[in-house]
Amino acid sequence: MKISELFKEKTVLSFEIFPPKPTAEETVIYETLDGLTGLHPDFISVTYGAGGGKNGSKTIKIASDVKNRYNIESVAHLPCIGITKNQAVQILDSLKENSIENILALRGDISPDTVSAGDFSHASELIEFIRERYDFNIIAACYPEGHPESKSIIEDINFLKHKVDCGVSHLITQLFLDNNYFYEFCERATIAGIDVPIEAGIMPVTNKAQIERMVKLCGIRLPKKFIKMMERYENNPVALRDAGIAYAIDQIVDLISQDVNGIHLYTMNNPYVAKRIYEAVHRLLAVQHC
Ligand code: FAD
Repeated sequence: MKISELFKEKTVLSFEIFPPKPTAEETVIYETLDGLTGLHPDFISVTYGAGGGKNGSKTIKIASDVKNRYNIESVAHLPCIGITKNQAVQILDSLKENSIENILALRGDISPDTVSAGDFSHASELIEFIRERYDFNIIAACYPEGHPESKSIIEDINFLKHKVDCGVSHLITQLFLDNNYFYEFCERATIAGIDVPIEAGIMPVTNKAQIERMVKLCGIRLPKKFIKMMERYENNPVALRDAGIAYAIDQIVDLISQDVNGIHLYTMNNPYVAKRIYEAVHRLLAVQHC
């Protein structure tokens, strides 16, 4: 199923997972999936390392298992910076053979280890490439606080509009910790003529290292109340985890009340945290807007 259809019917709840690290047992992902699929998400998306290569085959296998073994719609992430057009065709053919219908088309994170393969510079180029050759449902990323490399929010929104016009059916946001950034972003997107559903990416922050990594990588701003929470509980891992879960629930309740199209939970492969959030909000997701 092409997941763009879902937004016509309901407030969507989806999860993001990542393939196990090379040092971890391959089977650990099935423990994660056993826990997450029991929460009946509308779809599960599987990340893909921007370097291309070996990580990609894990993404395809896991996305295929989500769809064909667990009977839940899956989305395969596909970053293009590290792959050639020939490699893109191989990956896309393999996704098609595995009955995967939905792709999150990305440029990919640029790190000191990322080597550009030279064929794609931006996600929009990959989206056009897929659109011309395949029938996948294409999703793309967006950034409520602006992408860290952008000169301005306006420039970022203009590039986003172009990206959507290349053939995107819905957007998923980077995590944010203040819903006002999301609401302002949605207003700017509407003014720019972007009219596809926007799913809000929510990450329950459960440890200090995790948030430090996110600030460095994504350039997100930390609201005062979030900083206070971290300061109060940083030396008590259980209290910090509980506070992080409560903070995410608070964000989600507000977003649902304001009629968000969907919630995309960055699960960090942690079914316990996802379950606590699911239990707090799933009845709210089912309430129709009057
Ligand atoms: P783009 O849309 O190409 O934008 C990148 C930058 O270029 C922006 O500053 C934009 O304004 C600018 N730009 C866009 N088009 C043009 C143009 N034509 N000319 C000049 N500038 C332009 N990374 C991974 O490696 N693997 C993953 O699995 C992954 N999953 C993600 C999931 C989500 C929901 C999100 C939000 C991000 C994910 N990322 C992932 C991170 C993402 O790859 C990075 O944020 C990356 O830096 C940008 O990717 P993009 O697809 O948004 O790029």
